[in-house]
Amino acid sequence: TYPAIACVFGNPIEQSKSPIIHSMFASQFNLPLQYQKRLAPSDGFALSADQFFADISCIGANVTMPFKLDALQWVDTLSSQAKRAGAVNTIIRQNNGFTGDNTDGVGLVNDLHQHNIAVNKANILMIGAGGAAKGAIPALLDAGINSIAIYNRSVDKAQALVRHTNRYANSKARLYDSASMQAFDIVINATSLSLQNELPDLPDSVFANQPSVYDMVYLNKPTVFMQKATSLGCTMVVDGLGMLVNQAAQSFYLWFGQRPSCEPVYLHLRDLNK
Ligand code: NDP
Repeated sequence: TYPAIACVFGNPIEQSKSPIIHSMFASQFNLPLQYQKRLAPSDGFALSADQFFADISCIGANVTMPFKLDALQWVDTLSSQAKRAGAVNTIIRQNNGFTGDNTDGVGLVNDLHQHNIAVNKANILMIGAGGAAKGAIPALLDAGINSIAIYNRSVDKAQALVRHTNRYANSKARLYDSASMQAFDIVINATSLSLQNELPDLPDSVFANQPSVYDMVYLNKPTVFMQKATSLGCTMVVDGLGMLVNQAAQSFYLWFGQRPSCEPVYLHLRDLNK
């Protein structure tokens, strides 16, 4: 049924760039897509989703903070990414119900590839153990990483994520240990710290191997974390804008079976942000 309707659920939602991204993707294929922002009450995701999807033209939705767990409960079936991540950021209407997927990890891995950062066999340091870290890890494992060390301010959450990951990942995950002096190939900041201009409490030695450095936050300038990495000699230092565009592209693919081109959308958003 056309025009197709999709939306992003969140609270707050005003800041979301998803409508711009998906409109640009849709115009690449001349698809008539109407993509809305939907503010759901913080305790009312299920009702909002029921109401939205009552219209048969609504083919899918993105889900952002704080509803990724509510969406996991709401859908009928889960993809392998969503199951392993324990969170849903994309809902797809199927003939017989709704599937929940998680495209954050694929978005990150595709952006790493687009920056020619080798993921296969990489030893990774993941800083953070919230939704973004959880979403990223299954796709990193699928891309063939060698190991992942997890660091988080709240150690219990890092421990839980290591245990959860090792249930399906052959002991590739462990807690970050400052005493081990392990060399990392990729260091990923999956915390929100850069939004407050703050750094994670880690020694400079995590950058000693001059790893590729990824901050999931994106601002209109290099984040404090990116600046720190650069000052310590890292040359491949990337922010999260490409992940944002690539996770949207994967959602678009799940809805329409078409792979949009990310580059023009990425450049447009970079420009808007200046
Ligand atoms: P969560 O709230 O689920 O997790 C936040 C994480 O940041 C936790 O690990 C938390 O540690 C840590 N943190 C927050 N404040 C502090 C602090 N003051 N000191 C130390 N650690 C802190 O958020 P998400 O995981 O969903 O998102 C994290 C960031 O990633 C956000 O800024 C978001 O914008 C970004 N993101 C970017 C995406 C992209 O496409 N580029 C996609 C998804 C997310 P603790 O457990 O100790 O509280």
